[in-house]
Amino acid sequence: MKNEKSLKIYEEAVKYIPGGVNSPVRAFKSVGLDPIFIDRAHGSRIYDVDGNEYIDYICSWGPLMLGHSPKEIVQGIEEVVAKGTSYGVPTEIEVDMAKIIVEAYPAIDQVRMVNSGTEATMSALRVARAYTNRNKILKFEGCYHGHSDALLVKSGSGTITYGVPTSPGVPDDVVKDTLVCRYNDLDAVREIFKNQGHEIAAIIVETVAGNMGVVSGTQEFLQLLRDITKEYNTVLIFDEVITGFRLNYSSSIGYFGIKPDMVCFGKIIGAGLPVGAYGGTKEIMSMVSPVGPVYQAGTLSGNPLAMYMGKKNLEILRDNPQIYLELEEKAKRLEAGLRNNIEKLGLNYTINRAGSLVCLFFAKGPINNYDDVTKCDVDKFNKYFKELINKGILLAPTQFEAMFLSNAHKNEDIDYTINASYEALKAAHNL
Ligand SMILES: *Cc1c(COP(=O)(O)O)cnc(C)c1O
Repeated sequence: MKNEKSLKIYEEAVKYIPGGVNSPVRAFKSVGLDPIFIDRAHGSRIYDVDGNEYIDYICSWGPLMLGHSPKEIVQGIEEVVAKGTSYGVPTEIEVDMAKIIVEAYPAIDQVRMVNSGTEATMSALRVARAYTNRNKILKFEGCYHGHSDALLVKSGSGTITYGVPTSPGVPDDVVKDTLVCRYNDLDAVREIFKNQGHEIAAIIVETVAGNMGVVSGTQEFLQLLRDITKEYNTVLIFDEVITGFRLNYSSSIGYFGIKPDMVCFGKIIGAGLPVGAYGGTKEIMSMVSPVGPVYQAGTLSGNPLAMYMGKKNLEILRDNPQIYLELEEKAKRLEAGLRNNIEKLGLNYTINRAGSLVCLFFAKGPINNYDDVTKCDVDKFNKYFKELINKGILLAPTQFEAMFLSNAHKNEDIDYTINASYEALKAAHNL
């Protein structure tokens, strides 16, 4: 793999940008490589500045359900730009977008657009705290909800711990009300609610945790969250920034049959432009300024370019339900092929899949929570990653992420990936 041009840009990049990147995962540090710099992408393929071509399983970390720059979505954007790029005064397309989201997600009546998933979760929690007049929140170990202070918390070794900041710069005081339980641990949730349920404003959860590989919440776990939050008048927030419009057009509601009180979206609803959204019942959303007292604002929120792309993307997904069936078939094909590989090579590894999210864990299963995930052989994964990138396959540069399939991935791409993965596994294990 040639990388002279990427290296040259990287040398400049580190002078002016911390680590040379605008989001840490892009540095490829965890896999011990230098970052590649991208020139362009189309469909399932991404091309770096050195001219290397890869089948892309990062897909911008989830937003690109239809692959890179699909014609159906990007055409017409020049006309939008020509009319103006931002007004700071309302536009009709914001209303169209809100309506599409609300109609797709039967738990909510209203939605507010923001600019990222981080903003969505941060704002939803503020609203839930104001609505319940309580301060504590409960999150789960291994779930990522963006990088706002109160959510940058992981748990210690116990099943229930008080928040300890994961990052310097987050004051202990800010996370003292962030409680953390083990994912999929029903007893831990019952215990914490028995003791302090009446002080908990909200539970925030990824229904399928997509930031520790792919770990699905069990039906019993999610149902317990629904029941216990009803009992204690706690707001249940589904963070659907990854799962939203991916698992299904009605997201986790369609997939699990469980409705939250609030939801956060991001990624797919922007189709590659910076967008997030949070929504809830009318009663809850009436807390939000200017109707209610909870302040939340955004200079570029509901930006016309982002709304244009997001709306077209959602319309295509809404009007073509076979996209979800096709994606699921492709994901199953990938899952079966990878499973066959590890069996043939006698590797005791685990594959988790939820809809079109697939993860090969370098550890023995079952993998149901963060403790399980940490058993993965990261060194072997890193070797595997390097083998694959040399074969023209770009995975997220960490064991703890999904392979994001798009509908632009063809069966041939997947079959090539399966074969390459076999060779890469073999080489990584000296078999
Ligand atoms: C990506 C992600 C976020 C944060 O979204 P950003 O747009 O990166 O701020 C929040 N929650 C989940 C589940 C995510 O995957």
